[in-house]
Amino acid sequence: MLNIVIFGGPGSGKGTQSEKIIEKYGLDHISTGDVLRAEIKNETELGKIADSYISKGQLVPDELIIDILASVFDKKENSRGVIFDGFPRTIPQAEALKKMLLERGTAISAVVALEVEDDELVARLLNRGKISGRSDDNQETIQKRLNVYHSQTAPLIDFYKKENLYNGIYGMGSIEEIFERIKSVIEKI
Ligand code: AMP
Repeated sequence: MLNIVIFGGPGSGKGTQSEKIIEKYGLDHISTGDVLRAEIKNETELGKIADSYISKGQLVPDELIIDILASVFDKKENSRGVIFDGFPRTIPQAEALKKMLLERGTAISAVVALEVEDDELVARLLNRGKISGRSDDNQETIQKRLNVYHSQTAPLIDFYKKENLYNGIYGMGSIEEIFERIKSVIEKI
């Protein structure tokens, strides 16, 4: 399997680039944010819990998201590979992902990390907020999400560097330019 983690701060282009990677390489997409937003829309119990964290810019607790991830992954039968978008976001999640894949006889092939400065992330998210209708794309919550990214998610950079899986991608420029950089990483796997 070709399993790719797409990594980066909120607004770094993970969702946009995931779509392009999926189209080109025929992978399945797991976006934990999309899964949670679907639960909220369907007004499930899980959705209610998730909403109380998401709307405040906080992360959903690890145990909850790890269970969700495993059940979504197990539904992708005969997959050529999966792109993990928005997961992992903490060290315990990264450890759980490694274990889950190992138990299923596979592993992460590469981490593709979109590197974008904070000022640009804020500008992109404010812009997206005008059309996304997302409860978390507003000034106050964006700042909280960035703080959460730096304190809880950025430590994964060193984690994946130690695992020799980290590939930093300059995340500024056009969608196509960034995708070219990503392709050159994937083609070397
Ligand atoms: P995203 O669509 O990836 O930006 O995720 C939106 C929000 O969903 C995040 O700010 C978190 O509140 C929650 N979320 C998504 N993925 C995770 C995750 N892996 N761990 C914890 N919370 C998550």
